[in-house]
Amino acid sequence: MTSIMDITTAKPTSNTKLPEGLYIFEQPFLRAPNETVRRHFRATQKHIERDFTALKTSTRELSKKKNGDAVTVLDSMIAKVDMLQKKLVDVHEKGTSPTLAIMRKRLEHLDELDKLEETELEGWTDVRLDRWLVDWSLRNGYHQTAKVVAEERGIEDLVDLKLFAEIRRIEEALGRKSCTEALAWCSDNKNALRKNKSPLEFELRLQEYIELARAEKTNEALVYWRKHLQLWQDTHLAQIQQATGLIAFRPDTKCKSYQRLYSTARWPRLIQTFNRAIYQLHSLPSSPLLHYALSAGLTALRVPACYDKQCYNPDCPVCGTSMARDGDGDMDVIMERKDLNGGLGVLAREVPFAHHANSTIVCRITGKIMNEDNPPLAFDNGNVYSTEALEDMANKNGGIVTCPRTKEEQEFITLKKVFIS
Ligand SMILES: [Zn+2]
Repeated sequence: MTSIMDITTAKPTSNTKLPEGLYIFEQPFLRAPNETVRRHFRATQKHIERDFTALKTSTRELSKKKNGDAVTVLDSMIAKVDMLQKKLVDVHEKGTSPTLAIMRKRLEHLDELDKLEETELEGWTDVRLDRWLVDWSLRNGYHQTAKVVAEERGIEDLVDLKLFAEIRRIEEALGRKSCTEALAWCSDNKNALRKNKSPLEFELRLQEYIELARAEKTNEALVYWRKHLQLWQDTHLAQIQQATGLIAFRPDTKCKSYQRLYSTARWPRLIQTFNRAIYQLHSLPSSPLLHYALSAGLTALRVPACYDKQCYNPDCPVCGTSMARDGDGDMDVIMERKDLNGGLGVLAREVPFAHHANSTIVCRITGKIMNEDNPPLAFDNGNVYSTEALEDMANKNGGIVTCPRTKEEQEFITLKKVFIS
């Protein structure tokens, strides 16, 4: 899969205008289906290895058999080969082939990026935002919303609906206090979980043991302990030792460490452990991509001026929601809105300020950048605004401009040009 990694990390070659950063967010986009293909490949390998061993044994038996018996052995061998073929076709048709088609579509989607002109980028980033919104919805339990958005935008192959349906099925089972589904998933992914040193399987086994103890099925709990917990001694000795004593305590015990084991708060924690394990297995980040993108974007935009009432920039999303104009819409009266519970400005409080080596001067009236095409003009009181904004004001007021901050009036032609060096 070197080719995929090359694409995700490579610089765009034919279109150098596009920032390289666009590709940074796209690794999970390709790695998630890649992991699924690997899983299908491992399932195929497992079927082949297991059935071939059985066939080899049958072949050895065959040489020792007489005519009639030999036919019976041969018949059973043919049945085994037929069964193996069916299993392999099943994995290919339901798993490998559709996942490879998804990978192809995703590669084509990323390839588009390389061919786009800068002006066409917006359409592509709109699709990306839809993908991130679907990802966020899936992770937050809004599966129906995610499905509707994916269908309406025609991006079903660009989002992980199927994977999250599996996640949801297992989460719901854990929500019903059943470990069976999650343990079956662990068994399918045993090697990968061991490689990632995931505590999931042990925690699930421990939970099943706790439930037996809660039901006061002492003998069954002991059998379960011997069969499923004992073998984790190398990695979870302290927990196993503590669990051993659990059957001596009733669920209403006052002993803190056993209260923690009997606590039903373990179930939501099991869901979190399962989420961490499955995200890691599919190379998905632990938080929605939307969070990473928002965090990166807000860090780039947030400057101390965003929280200064005198420096409101109407085009800045951080200023825009951390402050709002008062009822009459006056530009000079900007109030901090205590009733705003959400908004990007509120979110931005959690990220660091941007580091700007070079300042950009922005007009407080229009929010547009002041430069040689839209140079700054100064009132006699020293306040500076863009030519565009003041010209517009002068045209509407017979050549008179009013400083939004001090309300002082002045003739437009007497404003002084300011030169930025
Ligand atoms: Zn701002």
